[in-house]
Amino acid sequence: MASKEDPLRDMQKCSINLKVEEDKKETVAQREREDSIDIRCTEFPDFSEEFRQIIKTGWLEKTPPKVGKYQRRWVQLDSEYLRYFQYIKEVYSRGMVSLESVNKVASVEDKQFELHCQSRIFQFRAKSTQERNDWVGCIEKILSDRKNSLEPRNLFFKNGSVNICFEGNLEMSPRTKVYTIISRDKLFLFRSHEEYFQGVGITDIDMRMANVRDGEKKRSFTLTTPYRAFSFVANSVSEKQKWCELLNECVSRSLSCDGVCESIWRVPSNRFCADCSSSMPEWASINLCVLLCEKCAGLHRSLGQNVSKVRSLKLDERVWTDDLIRVFLLLGNGKANQFWGANIPPSESLRANANSEQRLKHITAKYKNGKYRKYHILFGQQEALNRALCSAVQLADLLDTLSLLNCGADIKCNTGIPEFPSPLSLAKHSGQMVQVELLMQNLNSESFTPVVKDVSIRSHSGYLFKTGSSARPITDHKTKADFSQRWCCLGDGMFSYFKNEQSLNKCGGMKTSEIICLSVNSPGKHGYEHTFELYSEEGKVYLFGTDDGSIAKNWIRAIAMAVLPPALFDVCGTCDRLGRLRCTEGSHGIGWFCLSGFKLHALLEDNVQTIDLRKLVTLTLSDSSDSLVMVWRGGPLHLLADRRPHFVGWQTYIQQKSGAGDQLLSQQQLTDLGVPVTIDRCLDHITRYGLLLPGIYRKSGIHSHVTKLLERFQNDARSVTWCESEYSVEDVANTLKRFLREVKDGVLNGQENSNSWLRAAGLENRSEKINTYKILLSNLPDVNRETLRVLIHHLVCVQHLCDENQMTVRNLGIVFGPTLFQTDGTDVTPSQVMDELIQNYCSIFNVSESDLQRQLNMTSVILNKHKSQRSLSRTPSSTICAVYLEKKEEGADVLVQVAADMTVFKLVSVVLELKGIQQANEEFWSCYEILEKEGMERTLHYQERVLPLYFSLSCHCHLLIKRNQYIISIMRYLENKVNLSKSGPLRVCEVKSESSRNFHLRHCELSGNTFRLHKELQGSQCEREYPAKELKLYHGCRRKLHPPTPWGLMLIHDKQQWYLCCENEDELTEWTATFYSIQYNGDIWPSW
Ligand SMILES: [Zn+2]
Repeated sequence: MASKEDPLRDMQKCSINLKVEEDKKETVAQREREDSIDIRCTEFPDFSEEFRQIIKTGWLEKTPPKVGKYQRRWVQLDSEYLRYFQYIKEVYSRGMVSLESVNKVASVEDKQFELHCQSRIFQFRAKSTQERNDWVGCIEKILSDRKNSLEPRNLFFKNGSVNICFEGNLEMSPRTKVYTIISRDKLFLFRSHEEYFQGVGITDIDMRMANVRDGEKKRSFTLTTPYRAFSFVANSVSEKQKWCELLNECVSRSLSCDGVCESIWRVPSNRFCADCSSSMPEWASINLCVLLCEKCAGLHRSLGQNVSKVRSLKLDERVWTDDLIRVFLLLGNGKANQFWGANIPPSESLRANANSEQRLKHITAKYKNGKYRKYHILFGQQEALNRALCSAVQLADLLDTLSLLNCGADIKCNTGIPEFPSPLSLAKHSGQMVQVELLMQNLNSESFTPVVKDVSIRSHSGYLFKTGSSARPITDHKTKADFSQRWCCLGDGMFSYFKNEQSLNKCGGMKTSEIICLSVNSPGKHGYEHTFELYSEEGKVYLFGTDDGSIAKNWIRAIAMAVLPPALFDVCGTCDRLGRLRCTEGSHGIGWFCLSGFKLHALLEDNVQTIDLRKLVTLTLSDSSDSLVMVWRGGPLHLLADRRPHFVGWQTYIQQKSGAGDQLLSQQQLTDLGVPVTIDRCLDHITRYGLLLPGIYRKSGIHSHVTKLLERFQNDARSVTWCESEYSVEDVANTLKRFLREVKDGVLNGQENSNSWLRAAGLENRSEKINTYKILLSNLPDVNRETLRVLIHHLVCVQHLCDENQMTVRNLGIVFGPTLFQTDGTDVTPSQVMDELIQNYCSIFNVSESDLQRQLNMTSVILNKHKSQRSLSRTPSSTICAVYLEKKEEGADVLVQVAADMTVFKLVSVVLELKGIQQANEEFWSCYEILEKEGMERTLHYQERVLPLYFSLSCHCHLLIKRNQYIISIMRYLENKVNLSKSGPLRVCEVKSESSRNFHLRHCELSGNTFRLHKELQGSQCEREYPAKELKLYHGCRRKLHPPTPWGLMLIHDKQQWYLCCENEDELTEWTATFYSIQYNGDIWPSW
């Protein structure tokens, strides 16, 4: 009885805790995940000890294998193994005996007892007869509790629940052979393969704390744990790699499981399979809310996703959100079985050692048919059930909801509340996130009211038509005559086809694991209306067809589910192409993909990511077409070809679906916001450079430029960039207009829809008209709606500045009406619609007046040359630059996004802000161009543009931001100057080669805008003269030249360089100040 009460009490405690949390958060609509209860243990849990359930420990004397003296051993007994250690605190045993292999335990003379294993007898001697009898009693109890038949292979693992990943011989230094097995999260060591079979081992190593490293020798590797390092030598290098790979996998697997398992197993009833009571269930059905052992999970899966969504606690970690874990803490096996298993007669209950047939029968009856469930009091009264569901989801009781959902309440029923039409939205509104989770998991489940289908989705059979297999992609049209009828069967991991239903000899087939790709052809491609292709691992292509669409659909779905990992089941329903591909980002270099329209669903590690191919940043096919690289918001993805025919198809599909310029608006390449790239780039350019241009959108550009630019956009919009001078604003404006005018079906999505807008314009009642526009807008496809929104927003900005650009609302209407409606302009209604869309922008597009005003102000700010970086951050000509702060050091670079027009001043303030440095008074920071080899530096003027400079840096140069030591003295010097000029003697060296190190005193002069270099000190003969503004001035001391003084300057003009040495610091300051002042017309520092 006690064991039954404990779980209940535990659960009550648990739900009390949760209830407190629920109450608290009711006031907070948007719950922060971090604030929720701590479900995942942050500490490293050591619960395997706890669950090992040690039954007895103590010192015993044991006979060694060969006859000899007794050895004193610390012996530990749990329900699975007897282990013996040399010391009490030893972590790794000297030996362990699987109790499955023990035939009997016998008391013998002199306080001794014997453990009779299959091939060996272990002798132990206790300190007293009483002690000996205790040991024998305990072991006998375990042996008699044993339920399972003895299968020799599984002697070592209880319940036959073996999960061996890898096994084989290793050498353990020094020169000891061990037979090693990776199973679950442990590594087991045996003296030999025979001993493993006999159920006798050395020890097991918990991989959660282990670390795998390469050894010193080629074939060796080391497993380190906090307690001990184990060194192994494999038979070959490749075998070593295999071991390391699998052990590493084992480490991460064992770590990843801890969070979820530990949390969920905290409720005692969750520690046993809900169906057969096997211990430590690692699987769950997330819609039925039960935890399952591996065997039961397999049969749940065979019922299909619509009945039971099976997920692993260990492998599907991403599924396990905190809310889902809470569902399992609140319900879990205890409560869920109060519902599912309320009426199980003892004769129909399931035991841990049941066979598959018994399991399937029980599980089908229990969940699919609901045979044992506890009927809800309202069962059979649909209306009342639905109403009960609506109120249940607003409260905390999950069991009530589970019971309603599985007794006929409609999860999609109408609540009668317009704002929250579904139970799901009601639950969200009430802040019942756990209810939300439970509903979400059940949204696609089969409810009990419809007739239960009896066919397992994973096996499938029927007639299909098939052509001969091919080693190349099938490009030519196949007529019906090319096909022959075959009876096809899918099941037991095989896809096979036969001459007919009665035929016993199959004509051919393949393992489902060998199907690497399934591709669905567009209808009518071949003689049979619906065809699909299967690609095998060995490089063959099989074509199947039928005229019946639903037959094709069922086959595609069945094959998809047989081929794909379960994580993709939810998305594989209506896909065009699916399968696996080599890719650098996937686990073990393999990724699983489903292509459905524009969406590419990718399973790379353990979560499914969905890539909208239209929104790719770049797509690159290598010339030799042996790889494909796409960059999307989530990063790059490299697909690698493997010379098999399926890759070509992937390439073609992805390229086609990534957006094409000659297609509908919704099939174009898109920005992240879902606007065609072409439109976004054009609007961006015009906003920057054209808003103040009189007659923008009325003036025509150069025809050939417009044609060229439009072609480039159509070809590959995302690769188009241009510099300001390449196309005039008028060119870009006309490109935009032509794109809008020519794009298939237009922004308004076809003639019929366009006509609706025109009809709406004729409505007399203004508010009725606006409402109709709103409805028409909401009926547009997403891309069209978003395009219209940004376009009208842009036009609102244009007309806002109509004093300067002369484009009034009326003018814009006249230009854009016929463009958007793709008409010739004889009808004025299109212009009227545009006019009204611009005038009523806020109400039609649901924008608040104040938001619009803010945006308009921002536009003005940009135009007034206050370069606001934030609003321009979308510029395609921006790049990420690395600059250093104070000193160039490894890892000390600061990465800054630099737009085309970012100034040095801005860069400095951005970097200081990024690094949290506040500029003190009297402290001046500048950016320097550093020539690393020469040890020279140039102070960059605060208004200099960063980007062109950054791109011109050679590889031994970098940008450095640091305090400017000289600026104050330079300013002071300039303060009182009226006539700016400087002349005097300097030691000059013309740097021609490394060897020219001759410094001569020369007369130098800086006046007007010219720098003059005289041949001699006194001579009036001027040898060289340069415009001062064209010189670059560097500071520093170039040691290789052995300069006579440390106060050096370098002047560079084209490829000529002079090194000038001043006599002292003051002189250096004076020359520098004069140079700066002339070069920048006195504007040296922003605040002065
Ligand atoms: Zn089970």
